Amino acid sequence: MYVDVIVDILSGETDRIFEYRYGGDDLREGDRVAVPFGKTKKDGIVMRVKERPNYDEARVKDVLGKLDAVPALTKECLRLAEEISKNFFVSKAAALRLFLPAEMRRGTVREQTVKIAEYAAEGEEEALASLKKNAASQRAALSFLASAKRFPLSALNAKYGGPAVGALVKKGLIRVTEEKSERRPYADLDGKEKSITLTPDQEKVVRVVEETDRTVSLIHGVTGSGKTEVYLRLIRDVLDRGKTAILLVPEISLTPQMAGNLRRRFGDECAILHSGLTAGERFDEWWRLRSGEAKIAVGARSAVFAPLENVGLIVIDEEHDGSYQSESAPRYNTLEVAKFRASYNKAKVVLGSATPAVETYLRARRGEYALVELKERINGKKLPEVEIVDMRREVRRGNNTAFSSALKAELSEVLAKGNQAIVFLNQRGYSKNVICTSCGYVPTCEACDVALTYHMDEGALKCHYCNAKYKMIETCPACGSKFLRYGGIGTQRVAGELKKLFPSARILRMDRDTTQTKEGHLKILAEFAAKKADILVGTQMIAKGHDFPSVTLVGILDADMSLHFSDYRSGERTFQLITQVAGRSGRAGEAGKVVLQTYQPENNVLRFAVNYDYTGFYENEIALRKATGFPPFSEIIRVLVSCEDDGRAKDALRAVYEELNAEYVKNPSQFKFFGCMKAPIKRLNNKFRYQVLMRTSLKNFKFRVQEICAKYKSRAVLVGVEVNPNNLT
Ligand code: ADP
Ligand code: ZN
Ligand code: ZN
Repeated sequence: MYVDVIVDILSGETDRIFEYRYGGDDLREGDRVAVPFGKTKKDGIVMRVKERPNYDEARVKDVLGKLDAVPALTKECLRLAEEISKNFFVSKAAALRLFLPAEMRRGTVREQTVKIAEYAAEGEEEALASLKKNAASQRAALSFLASAKRFPLSALNAKYGGPAVGALVKKGLIRVTEEKSERRPYADLDGKEKSITLTPDQEKVVRVVEETDRTVSLIHGVTGSGKTEVYLRLIRDVLDRGKTAILLVPEISLTPQMAGNLRRRFGDECAILHSGLTAGERFDEWWRLRSGEAKIAVGARSAVFAPLENVGLIVIDEEHDGSYQSESAPRYNTLEVAKFRASYNKAKVVLGSATPAVETYLRARRGEYALVELKERINGKKLPEVEIVDMRREVRRGNNTAFSSALKAELSEVLAKGNQAIVFLNQRGYSKNVICTSCGYVPTCEACDVALTYHMDEGALKCHYCNAKYKMIETCPACGSKFLRYGGIGTQRVAGELKKLFPSARILRMDRDTTQTKEGHLKILAEFAAKKADILVGTQMIAKGHDFPSVTLVGILDADMSLHFSDYRSGERTFQLITQVAGRSGRAGEAGKVVLQTYQPENNVLRFAVNYDYTGFYENEIALRKATGFPPFSEIIRVLVSCEDDGRAKDALRAVYEELNAEYVKNPSQFKFFGCMKAPIKRLNNKFRYQVLMRTSLKNFKFRVQEICAKYKSRAVLVGVEVNPNNLT
């Protein structure tokens, strides 16, 4: 037989189908094979099986071998990989990689086997008699195995010594066999916990999701409204109908605690895929899904590629979370992938959030998605009260620390009562935005209404969406003050100041620096949960999902810094962040409180957040997006050209720009912006970087852009297309 194979190589130019001959008859679509490629040996995926070759039979090479007993990829995965390749502009080889655990591709992990020692003597008496009198260890080992029958070889060696056991094997009294052993994370938690009786509100949500003719449903429910229980019930129902399900959560909320909850509820039916597992565990969980033994895949965004068949439901929890957009190659959007899978399987997609993405809510409002709301917390607890503190007044009073007097007072009270507090500040504070600490003024772009970024090398303020350049300011144009602040303050400084203010308080810090290792953040969270600290200082990482019953105070130090990040979504991100962080306070027992510090207390977004007014925020935000022509009313498309040779980069840029410009002049009114410039980071990893940036409402224009760019990319010159990228650097 002959097969079409995609070879696992990522050089872009080799994204072609190669034909090979195969001597056997057991290859199927989706099988992994080893093939000769040039002078080397590579892995590849069988895309098609056929009787006759298309090319010269004499020149077709032979498949070197079949790599797995069962095709690693299902037909659906192959189809999906093609969709992904087409829609996200990645090679087929790169798209196929998404479906395979990295461990499998690298060949570093194989099925784990254990050696088992089996009792193989005819009669115990005779066997013992045949041993030398002084061979005490051999006797003991043989007697033990005579009654145990089977025992792991390594354990037997440890107990009686390797030489003794080895001698018995040599004499044929013990036989060694190999067996597959599965590494199963969290297996000790399988307790098959009973499900909870849903409230009438939750029942209603389940009914709407199951009965709607829409593929996608949005559950908009306040924090603590019982969305998770709704997901679990929907999953149960799908399983009862003989189908499978995928539950996606943001990476950071996939703690052992949450994984444990799922195992308790679903036991072996559920497989957990996350980066905290060992390579071997991930590999085994993947195979359990592929073999059909496990029917629920739980994980961060990459679990959307879980090798399940007959998927009936895909849940995306905290759907607004930025982690669902992959930022490094291959870039893909998790919701888009979920929709492909849903349409292939006629399955449903459920999105859940307390603060849906503006785009998601717009689609729900338009009726494209079914929309259901959960307005109350399950235990009837009120959401914590939020107090806005005007930091301009603090500065005027001569307080130059990171803490307002109100926050200091609240912190002392928490410490006196033996409760816990979270102090939150924004990691993005390091970005080079400018803010006037006297009046809260932030320089923004006149055309785009987003905050400008300070470029020290040019001594200028620049807009990343239209490249407009403004003179750097020395004094505030609004109030004349000289007290301008660049960027934010760091977690380290904040923790230091806290220590000075409250010398006896136990303080934990959580940010990129303290969580270098994979378990780093879990360790910090566990310590805080065990009340080994009074105050947790941290960045975004502490905002999501965590449930600390003793936390009664949350302090948000610099709400402004995310508000004025140079991104059109900064208002949306700020609203989400405040709602999420506030949700950590007062979850059990005592009522919670939130202190929010800002230089712009009159800002709309903050007002809406403080009142938990999502719809108010949404109306305001969507009007702004419409006026400025940002998504969802347009698509931001960026073509990034980079090359080690500046001249060649410029040549490619010019060529791409000219063709794109020809498209632009046909329809200038459909473009809010169109231009060509150096990238904000002009040189990275020795490569010169240029970009064509556009904001267009032309439907499917990205495909035309991709078509044009494909012509000019080569091994040396990278020409990448990004759609609504999370950041422009
Ligand atoms: P959300 O995901 O909306 O933030 P959760 O699903 O975590 O909310 O629910 C909040 C709390 O309420 C959890 O401790 C959960 O176990 C509990 N809960 C949810 N639904 C019910 C119910 N029907 N009866 C009792 N407790 C519930
Ligand atoms: Zn000012
Ligand atoms: Zn601009």
